[in-house]
Amino acid sequence: MLTVKSFTFSPIQENTYILYNEKKECCIIDPGCYFPEEKERLKAEMEHSRLNPVLLLNTHCHLDHIFGNKFVSETWGLQLHIHAQEKIVLDNGPASGLRWQLPFENYAGPLVYINEGENIHVGDDKLALFFTPGHSPGSISFYHEAGGFVIGGDVLFNGSIGRTDLPGGDFDTLINSIQTKLFILPDETKVYSGHGPVTTVGFEKMNNPFVKLY
Ligand SMILES: [Zn+2]
Ligand SMILES: [Zn+2]
Repeated sequence: MLTVKSFTFSPIQENTYILYNEKKECCIIDPGCYFPEEKERLKAEMEHSRLNPVLLLNTHCHLDHIFGNKFVSETWGLQLHIHAQEKIVLDNGPASGLRWQLPFENYAGPLVYINEGENIHVGDDKLALFFTPGHSPGSISFYHEAGGFVIGGDVLFNGSIGRTDLPGGDFDTLINSIQTKLFILPDETKVYSGHGPVTTVGFEKMNNPFVKLY
């Protein structure tokens, strides 16, 4: 089973997740480490916990989720895995960084495209992929059934939802993604979001003002 550890990085306060198993094989999702000391903190955690990063994933490629892609790729020799519809968003990252006054060097290595219906493996542990567009055109969520959690990026937040005014965003598409992909999971499923605290599917179904089901 995979254990989740989170970091909050950059002035945008993005949540970076690492998932690891008993053999210490580790997957890094949305490395948002921006400042050198944040990159060092991520690296120190790997060394301290003796983790072996084997996989680099992005839920989507808005700048706050990709700041550390290059660092992670170069430090641990990993290729970036994204949905094909995020390539345009990834390519736009540095320009977006300049607008936010957060310049950074983009990942420029090979891309591995992943899509709904596939499973991604971290050692013997499985992550199911859901296509959850709306906040970004190629957003994907990673579901670990055995551990009862989903890493959803900026699709669903504790008490809120992702913004839909950025290029490729669409409100109805986002609501549909949440209702048909996330709200069908067991109520106790933990939702780890790209920003803010962890929540659960059941809590959001009851309380989220944007997508309440009751
Ligand atoms: Zn985003
Ligand atoms: Zn974000």
